[in-house]
Amino acid sequence: MGLQQKHPLSRRHFCFCCMTGAAFVATGSWLTPRQAYAEARGLVTLIKESAASSPVIPYKLRGNVTLLEGSGGNIAVLTGPDGKFLVDAGISVSRPQLTQALSGLSPEPITHLINTHWHFDHASGNDWLHSVGAKIIAHENTRKHLSEIQRVEDWDYNFLPSPAGAIPSEVISANRTLKLNGASIELKPYGPAHTDGDVSVIFGEADILHAGDTYWNGIYPFIDYSTGGSIDGMIAASEANLAAATDSTIIIPGHGRPGSNKSELKEFRDMLVDIRDKVATLKKAGRTFEETVAAKPTAAHDAKWGQFVIDPPFFTKLVYAGV
Ligand SMILES: [Zn+2]
Repeated sequence: MGLQQKHPLSRRHFCFCCMTGAAFVATGSWLTPRQAYAEARGLVTLIKESAASSPVIPYKLRGNVTLLEGSGGNIAVLTGPDGKFLVDAGISVSRPQLTQALSGLSPEPITHLINTHWHFDHASGNDWLHSVGAKIIAHENTRKHLSEIQRVEDWDYNFLPSPAGAIPSEVISANRTLKLNGASIELKPYGPAHTDGDVSVIFGEADILHAGDTYWNGIYPFIDYSTGGSIDGMIAASEANLAAATDSTIIIPGHGRPGSNKSELKEFRDMLVDIRDKVATLKKAGRTFEETVAAKPTAAHDAKWGQFVIDPPFFTKLVYAGV
């Protein structure tokens, strides 16, 4: 693929959300849909292979909550006598490493899984986790996207319906509180943001917020317009995340450096707002997408945020589509 030579990618940062950005970077120009499709297929394989051999690394956070990194999006696990409660399922091929990491935490079985959204790198582990006892909870739109053929335009890719065991058996469309392992767990739908099915998970006593893919720590985020995402939705979700956090809250991003905080989240929100304003001004003035990219509306932020596969032109495209 030549991808790793061209980009300072660490294995842990491979994620399914980034395929088109990577395809763009690899060739230096926009791909035709057919080329993008071929590239995307190659990258799916690459990402799966990468996850299959990547270690899953546990980080103890606070109050029986551990973060597992190495299988797609960041996974959170709450342990205790009621059973393990997981936020996100990772990529299915990581089952051996995840099984080992999970049993290293505590002996209880896995009883609950919540999907922050439907994407492959957060939910393709649903089937095996269900087979070992997890009840799956998700937003009703996540169930819909997992149940049907789902096209993601920016990846030029059609996802097949998930197997029956992978489909969430319980859906939410409004806030919901659970009590498990002595912890108060709040599930809060964001409204359309990264997708139309994003849900945050707050562990009350431990003061931990899992923001799913509404927050990418230190890197430009992917936004999935095919299933309801938008730049304005991402900004609104960032405001909701900031409102839910205090200076001592541990914030788990969907991707990027695991274990973040309110001040880093603020920088993410400010970056989104600034680029949105600049791109909107250019688009309003009649600039085409190519002219907008040439004006470099992300320039002030690229050194910090543009070092990953969602590169400046691709992120500009994601913002331009929504303003
Ligand atoms: Zn995602």
